[in-house]
Order: sequence, then C-alpha cells, then structure tokens
Amino acid sequence: MRFLLSCLLLTPFLARAEAAGQGWWMTEPIRWVQTNLRETDAALDPVRHADQLADMRANVVLMGMGGICAYYPTHVEFHYPSPYLPAGRDMFGDFLREAHARRIRVVGRYDLSKTPKPVYDAHPEWFFRKADGSPVIYNGLYSTCINGGYYRGQAMKILAEGLERYDVDGLFFNMFGNQSTDYSGNPVGLCHCDSCRDRYRRHSGRDIPDRPDDDYRALMSTCAREVSKEIGALIRRIRPQAGYFNYMQDLTDGIMSESNTEVRRPLPLWPLSASDNVNRARNSEPEKMAIDLNMQFVDYWWRFATVPREEIATRMWQQLANGGALTFEVNGTLDLQDRQAYETAKPIFRWAAVNEQYFAGQRSAARVLLLGDAGSREIDEASYRGVFRLLTEEHIPFAVCDNMRWLGSRDFDLVIATDGAPARLREYVERGGRTLLLGARPPEFDVRRVIRSVPDLKGYVRVRDHKLYPSLRDTDLLMINGPFTELEGDGTRSLSLVPPSMIGPPEKIHVDMRDTTTPGVVSSAIGQGLVTWVPWDLGALYYRHSLPAHAGLFRDLVTALYPERQVKTDAHPLIELTFMEQGRRRLLHLVNLSGHSQTGYFAPVPMRNIRISVAGEYRRARTVRAPGALSLRVEGARTVFTVPLLRDYELVVLE
Ligand SMILES: [Zn+2]
Repeated sequence: MRFLLSCLLLTPFLARAEAAGQGWWMTEPIRWVQTNLRETDAALDPVRHADQLADMRANVVLMGMGGICAYYPTHVEFHYPSPYLPAGRDMFGDFLREAHARRIRVVGRYDLSKTPKPVYDAHPEWFFRKADGSPVIYNGLYSTCINGGYYRGQAMKILAEGLERYDVDGLFFNMFGNQSTDYSGNPVGLCHCDSCRDRYRRHSGRDIPDRPDDDYRALMSTCAREVSKEIGALIRRIRPQAGYFNYMQDLTDGIMSESNTEVRRPLPLWPLSASDNVNRARNSEPEKMAIDLNMQFVDYWWRFATVPREEIATRMWQQLANGGALTFEVNGTLDLQDRQAYETAKPIFRWAAVNEQYFAGQRSAARVLLLGDAGSREIDEASYRGVFRLLTEEHIPFAVCDNMRWLGSRDFDLVIATDGAPARLREYVERGGRTLLLGARPPEFDVRRVIRSVPDLKGYVRVRDHKLYPSLRDTDLLMINGPFTELEGDGTRSLSLVPPSMIGPPEKIHVDMRDTTTPGVVSSAIGQGLVTWVPWDLGALYYRHSLPAHAGLFRDLVTALYPERQVKTDAHPLIELTFMEQGRRRLLHLVNLSGHSQTGYFAPVPMRNIRISVAGEYRRARTVRAPGALSLRVEGARTVFTVPLLRDYELVVLE
C-alpha cells in the first residue's frame, strides 16, 4: 500500500518533467545531498536515513549503490555485497522505497575504478598494470583499467542488474577512468596493461611513455568517452527517465564539479568557487544541470572534519544564485561526528524548499561573457580568476563559457578573454561585437602586429591621458609584473610602458626611469566591432595583489566598451550579484561575501540600503529572504529600487 501511495504522489512531478521534454534535473528545483556511504553503512536503517533527508527537505540523494561493494544482494559474478549488509536484507531497495515515498529521488553511486582481490585473481588482465607489471592496490582494492574487460564488459552486467531491479532516478560514477595517483597522492604512473599498450601503439606508433604526452591524453580521453557512451546507452535503454552523471562534460545529463578544499593547495582561497563552477557549467552547457558537490570535509585525511560553516553556506547561496543544484555532501550517513556543516545546511535546504518556485528553470540573463578554456587552449588560472573577481566586485553580471557554441545563438554586449583568445572570436567582433583581451599571450587572430614578448617585466605603465581613465586620477603609474607583449603603436595618448629602472639604494630609486611610446593598451576596429587589448597580465596581477589601480583601469576600459551597464549599484564590492531569467521574470541574487577574510569564513556583515538600477522596465519588485515589497520607479529604460537589508543572501524578484 505504501508503495502504491508513493507512485500516486510521484506522478505529478514526473509528468511535469516529461511534458517539458527534459529530464527532472532540468525542470525541478534540486536540493541534492550526497551521503558517501562506507561499506559499514550497508547496515543503515533505511527509514531513519530517509527521514533525516526528508527532515532537511532534500529532494535528491546521491548514495552508494554498487561497484566496490554493493548495498543490495547482487547476483552478478565479480560483484560483491558489502560484508556488512545483513543477511536477507536489501538496504538499497528498502531505502529507495522509503525515499520515493517521501518524494526524494535517488541517484545511485557506482565506483568501477576498483574491485576486491578475487576479481583480480580471476582476471588480472582487467586491471591497471604499473610499468613494473604490478597492480595498483589501495587498502586491499585493485584498480581496474578503463580498457580492460571489467569496465568494458563486466561493469555493464553489474549496471544492468542494478538498473533492471531498481527504479533509480539516476546513476553517478566516481573516479571514472584511469587515475594517475591514489587517494594518498602517490603517483601510480600510466597503465601498461596489454590493452593500453596495444591501443597506444596503434594510436601513436610508440610504446607507453613514462609521463602522459598529448597522444596519451587524447587516447585516454577517447577511451573514457567510449565507456561513458556505452553506460549512457545502457541507462537510456533500461531506465529512460534516469539521469546520467559523472565528471565528464559531454555524453552526460549533469555537469558535476566540486567545491572543495585541500590542505596543500596554495593560498589564496577561492571564495567564488561555487559561482565559478556553476556559472561555467550552466553557460557552457545550458541544456545540462550544474551539480557542484559541496564537500564538507577539509581533505581526504580528515573526512570527518568540516570546513567553516559559512564556507558551506556561501557555496550554497552561490549555487542558487547561478542557477545550479543546491548541494551538500557528507561522508558516511547523516549521523555525523562533526555536525557543524550539516546543521548549517539544514536551514538553507529548508528555506530553499519553501521558496522552491524560484530555483528551477533559471538561466543567466548576463550581457557580458567571460571566456574560459574555449577551444583547445588552456588559460592561466590566476589571469582568469583575477578577472572573475573584478567582474564580481564591479557587479557586472557575466556568464562564463568554455566553448564558442554561443556564437550566433546568444548575444553579448561585451566579451572578455584572458590569456589569449580563440580564432573564432573574430567572427563575433566582425559582426559588431566588443571585446576586451587581457594578457600578454596574443589572440589567435590579428589585432595588432606583435614586435616581441618578454616573459617577465618588472616595470610600470604610465597614464598619459587621465581623461580616458577617470578611476586613475590619483596615480600616474600602474605596476606591471610578469609577461609583456610589445605591440606596434603609439602609447603616448593613453598608456605607455615604463621599462625597468634602478630600484636601490634609495638614493638611486628610479632616477634613470624613462618613458617610451610602447603602448600599454591598444584598440583596433575589426569589421563592425572593436577590440581593446591590454598586452600584460592585469587579471593575474589583480588576483595576487588586489591593487585598486588595476581595478580602476579594468573599470575604465570596460566602461569605454560597454557604457550602459545592465546593473548599476552602490553595493559593497563584497556583495556578489547575479542576474537570472526565469520564464518572464528576472531574478537578481545578492550573496554577502563580507564574512570571508584570510582563511576564515565568518557570519557576513549585514549591509543596508543597497541602491540598484537594472536595465528594463519592471512593474513589481519584492525580496524573498527578508520578505517585502520594494517600491520602485522607472527612469528612462531602467528600474530603480533599494534593497533595505542584506544579511547572508537576498533574492529580488522583478516582474
Ligand atoms: Zn590499461
């Protein structure tokens, strides 16, 4: 009876997803909890687990299903139930029924990258083989190879059993493909199994190298795609309504990422991590959901120690503000020894559930694009992050895209590229687009003749015309450190290079300083459009030093290319602002980042009376977090209003 009741309850929301021709992950507000179950958790109480999830108003749970160990009594050869699964019990099946009865979707997690020893003993040829011929063993588990018979054959039998027996809402795959290090960070090298050696030889004509080269990376990517495609087809065939999730971008339904920490990672922290991951995913692949897993732990060694509460909360607000799934991850069950992150997540999940109408079907309405790793190129992370921060602090709503598929389908008022730019960007410019290039690396299309590049210049640029740079009225010099590309042109009417000069002793400081005509910035008309190129690394300099002069230069260059901003505000730079569309209404999200400093995250400082003007004429505006109607007025083609109070997060609904 309970099962029948659950089917009836589920019907309306399943029907909604089907009617839209999209999976549930695109049409429903997602509140996603990952419980990374241990083998001992196979004995968990399914009712208690489902009750805990329902209590926090989670509506999707990603949890252990099979692979390294199964949480159900499996009958497929070389797949073993957890030794802690009580005899005669089907924990996964029982839980699935309890979850569905509470309208919680279940995404089963499989890890196919490792198996217990008996599989290795029976089929050593299925496994990763190090250069010396030995297998990779970690805590008694043997690493499989993406090109071996486990991934290519046995795994499909394992998955088919799970999919046929359980009405799961999706499957997720951890550690997909051959990993080059183990959990402790020890390098294991490349796989030298017969399959890998054959394939690499056919692909490149050579033996497996000591370190991955371009051929090897390309081959491994192809291999992972082959298996990923096969798994995708299996899921579609057996459970057409189920979603397919792993860390690969294509062939899947969701783009998975993690907002996480690692103790050896260099500082500064990246407090915009969840915004970065979700913005990039939603705008690179708009037809897929961004699921940025909010990892509660500090690092692998301390899976039970949580990061600061406000870091967890900040990631959550950023996920909602950028149109992604709201997420929270724990190791083990929700009966935690460190409950700080869980207790932080609960009220936010509950609040998002009460207001769930706003958190489905959002799309970025930003008019500015920041290019990520578009094309085949990889860009410098510091350059990218510096510009990400500048746009955020300037309250310019922006989309991040890792490809050029937006060309011809989505219009932008300004495109910003850091560390070079792909050749196809020229098409956008020729049609009248405006582009700001930041970095010494020349774009893949002609903007200005390059005379030479120097890898590390320690000098300045001089402001020659302050009328062009109103934000720089109190300085004539901006520091440059890092690569510089000397371009043809005359810098004496805007910014010009001041090359290195003497730095000491004080009696000698810069007494030999000289000016040049070498431009510190150039602009070129191409077709109907305009390109401005700063041939030094403004983004990376801002990321490392946060100099207001660099921010001022960025502001003035953006204003020259994009004078009528979508959003104008007097908000503090540590208020993050995104502008989204949801059907006919617009959603302006404000995330208060003022609680972050150094390596700490504290409660944000409340901000009051934030004045905002947005392009477009709206008749009604209201706040949702601190509920209230806002009085607004229309001036020109803009709508002006004041947000009276921002504590941690606010959502302004414009209609
Ligand atoms: Zn192999």
